[in-house]
Amino acid sequence: MSGSVFRNYIANHWVDGNQGSIANISPANVKDVIGHYAQADRAQAEAAIIAAQQGQQEWQKSGLEQRYAVLMAIGDELIARKDEIGEILAREEGKTLAEGIGETYRSGQFFHYYAAEVLRQMGETADSVRVGIEIETRREPVGVVAIITPWNFPIATGAWKIAPALAFGNAIVWKPANQVPASAWALTEIISRQNLPAGTFNLVMGPGSEVGDALIHSRAINALTFTGSLETGRKVAAATAVNLVKCQLEMGSKNALIVLDDADLENAVECAVGGAYGGTGQKCTASSRLIVTEGIHDRFVAAMIERMKKLVVGHPLKKGVHIGAVADSDQMQQNLKYLELAQQEGAHLAYGGAVLQEETEGYYMQPALFTGTSNAMTINREEAFAPIACIIKVKNYDEALATLNDTNFGLTGGICTQSLRYASDFKRNAKVGCVMVNLPTAGTDYHVPFGGRKDSSFGPREQGTYAKEFYTVVKTSYIRA
Ligand code: NAD
Repeated sequence: MSGSVFRNYIANHWVDGNQGSIANISPANVKDVIGHYAQADRAQAEAAIIAAQQGQQEWQKSGLEQRYAVLMAIGDELIARKDEIGEILAREEGKTLAEGIGETYRSGQFFHYYAAEVLRQMGETADSVRVGIEIETRREPVGVVAIITPWNFPIATGAWKIAPALAFGNAIVWKPANQVPASAWALTEIISRQNLPAGTFNLVMGPGSEVGDALIHSRAINALTFTGSLETGRKVAAATAVNLVKCQLEMGSKNALIVLDDADLENAVECAVGGAYGGTGQKCTASSRLIVTEGIHDRFVAAMIERMKKLVVGHPLKKGVHIGAVADSDQMQQNLKYLELAQQEGAHLAYGGAVLQEETEGYYMQPALFTGTSNAMTINREEAFAPIACIIKVKNYDEALATLNDTNFGLTGGICTQSLRYASDFKRNAKVGCVMVNLPTAGTDYHVPFGGRKDSSFGPREQGTYAKEFYTVVKTSYIRA
C-alpha cells in the first residue's frame, strides 16, 4: 500500500498505477469503501510482461522442492486466513460470508494440489524406429502466461490458474476484474512474500479495455488463459490467434437441471435451489433452466416455492443470510431487464423477483422462479447471470435431453432421477463438459478437469492433471548413445 492505495506488483516492486486508482465499493453497502486500488495502463501491462520474461528464465531453473515449498506456503496461508480474506471477498463481491470463506479455502486447496503435482512431473521414453536411437518426451514450461479473470470468483479463478502456472515453471501477469481487486491484491501480497525470482509473478489491476487489451494483443506472452463472458472471450480468441499465442477460454453457460418423474422430490428441490440461486445465481455453472417432466411438474413447482420462501436475502456478513447482494449496479440492471423480458415473452413469474431494501444501501434481489417458459424464449437462450430460474415442462426423458442440449452453451448439466438407465444415458449424451447426477449443476472438485463444450469453453481443460496441457509444451528428444 502507498498512502491509502493498494498498488500493482511488477518485478517484485509495489508500483502506483499510471492511471491513478479506483475506489472498491461494496455492492452490499455502497457506503462501505473497501479500499482504493491502483489502475495500470498499457505501458505498465507491457512492463509487467517484460518483467515476467526475465522472471521466467530464473523460475524455470528452480528446483522442484523450491516450487513445492512456495505453493504449499501460499496454500497454507490462504487456508489459515480464510475467515479474514473470505470476509473481504464477501464485502467486495456481495456473496455470503460462508461462500467467501469457502472460496478462499478452496483456493488454498488448489495451491496444495499443484504443490503435489510439482513432484509428479514424469516424462516418457520410447525406442526409435531406427535401431540404436532412444527417444524421450518431457514437458517444459510454456513461458509467460497472461491471466485474465472475472468478478464472480475473485480469488478461486486466479488460484486455479496461478497454481498450475507456477507449478510447471511459468511466469505470470495477472489482470483481475476491476470490480473485485481486493481479493486479488490479498493473494498477490501472500505470493510477494515467497521465494520467487523477481518478475515471476506480476499483478496489473485496471480496466479490460486498456490493461486486458494490452495483454491479449501482446506478442511477448506465450499463453493466455481467460475466464469471463463469451463476448470478451471471442475478442481474446481473435487477438491471440493473430499472434499464434496459446489460448484457453472459460466462458458463460445456460446450464440445465432435468427433473424426471421418478426423482427424489426433496433432493431435486435442494439441487435446483442450490444450483440456481447459490452465489446469487452469478455462477457459470448455475442452473438457470429447470427441465421438468409433466408427472412431477406441479409437485416440483409447489415444493420449489415453499423452499424459496425460506431463503433469506441480506447483507453478506449477516448471520442466517443465504443469498447476498448482486455484484453491482450494471448486473442489477441486467437482472431486471431479463425479468421484464421474460414476462413480455409470456413467462409466468411464479415467485420472487422483487428488488429488496435492506438496512444498508446495496443491490438486493429476491430469487425468481418462472414457470410456463419455452426453451426458445430469450431468458432460456442468453446467460442472465442472475438469481433467476425458469421451468420448462416436457413430456419425457427424451424431450428433456433434447431440450437440455438445445443451446449454444455446454458447461454443466444435471439430472435428478432414480433410474440407472436414464442416468447412464444422460452421462453419455448430455453435450456438456461436466455431468451431475442427483447433484446441483454448480459445485465441482479441484483435482479433476473442469470445462465445457460449444460456446462455454475453448482450448485445453483447466484443473486436475489436465491443466498441464495448457501450462506446458512437449519436447521430443532423440538420443544416439
Ligand atoms: P467479462 O468478460 O466482462 O470480464 C472478464 C475479464 O475480462 C475481466 O477481467 C475484464 O476486465 C476483462 N476484459 C473485459 N474486456 C476486455 C477486453 N476487451 N480485452 C481483454 N480483457 C477484457 O466477464 P465478467 O462479467 O467479469 O464475468 C462474468 C462472466 O464470466 C460470465 O459470462 C460467467 O459465466 C463467466 N465465468 C465463466 C467461468 C467458467 O469457468 N466457465 C467461471 C466464472 C465466470
